[in-house]
Amino acid sequence: MDRFSISPNPVPTSPEQRAALTLDPRFGTVFTDHMVTLRWRAEDGWHDGRVEALAAIPFHPGNAAFHYGQQIFEGLKVFRGSDGDALLFRPRENARRMQRSAARLAMQCPPEDVFIEALEQLVLADAGWIPEGDGSLYLRPFIVADEVFLGMRAAARYLFCVIASPVGPYFSGGNRAIDVWVSETFSRAARGGTGAAKCGGNYAASLVAQVEAVERGCDQVVFLDAAESRWIEELGGMNIFFVMRDGEVITPPLGTILPGVTRDSVMTLASAAGHRVVQRRYSLEQWRSDAESGRLVETFVCGTAATIVPIGHVHHGAGRFAIATGACGPLTAKLRTDLQGIQRGRAADPHGWRHPLRLPASAVR
Ligand SMILES: *Cc1c(COP(=O)(O)O)cnc(C)c1O
Repeated sequence: MDRFSISPNPVPTSPEQRAALTLDPRFGTVFTDHMVTLRWRAEDGWHDGRVEALAAIPFHPGNAAFHYGQQIFEGLKVFRGSDGDALLFRPRENARRMQRSAARLAMQCPPEDVFIEALEQLVLADAGWIPEGDGSLYLRPFIVADEVFLGMRAAARYLFCVIASPVGPYFSGGNRAIDVWVSETFSRAARGGTGAAKCGGNYAASLVAQVEAVERGCDQVVFLDAAESRWIEELGGMNIFFVMRDGEVITPPLGTILPGVTRDSVMTLASAAGHRVVQRRYSLEQWRSDAESGRLVETFVCGTAATIVPIGHVHHGAGRFAIATGACGPLTAKLRTDLQGIQRGRAADPHGWRHPLRLPASAVR
């Protein structure tokens, strides 16, 4: 593929407007000045790469994406390093996961290096939007079918696009513990399904349970396995970890859950901190009895958007139980500090997770 063609936004947001917009944005509501687009068709492969002003994209109403849901996405964060670098966190993991998601939905995906270059180009174009302090720039790559037809087959054209959004904490109220609702009615994913693919359809299938959660005063839903409604899987967009009094850390195994980059990072960090980390099934029943007996001392959820967040209380069909005192536990707090230290360039990077990008002098404040 040729290099991306770059057409800077002729009317970029002024620094003053930008400062106001990024002061305390609600997650995913403010977008930067540019986007990256790239197109695929069999004859040309990936082509027509562009960095251009963020704008609406016209689609024919017969586009297959509107009808059969060929859509996948990724999410990763960029942090402002202290020495004028932008720090992307493990972008190759996202590139590889997007390839796997694409394969599952019979879609096309840019090669790893093109994916990374697309991210870098957008970060360079919108470098002034990377927040200082606790914020970060959330990158959202996605791919949709881009062919006009209503037949039942994989589309023959695709659009890859990357947009960016400056973000603060995911949950309102900052770093408080969240309450979760365990759905025993709705499943997110079944064996042989799309649970391990990052596709919008999984989210669509989870929203009705999220409505239930909100009605019960909870922040998020915990999904159980589809076969037995017994084993904890994950949340709508976050993975889950259980911390035992004896130091063991348990997380559900891969298969029907989304293989989170944060999940993988947390497993490494917890091992490095001397914990035994095991991937195994853990039931709702066991969770409740371990929480009540004190054998379980912490539970937290993790994902790029939310980072690492403790669970305070668990609501389910038959009642409710607390995780220890309902506050953030020490391992949860330590892992969050460790992860954010690496992400923000405040700590050493022993695992090579940071992907630094030198910013133009004009973008360094
Ligand atoms: C994106 C996502 C996660 C978290 O993955 P990260 O790579 O850590 O951001 C977890 N579960 C689901 C369903 C997701 O879509």
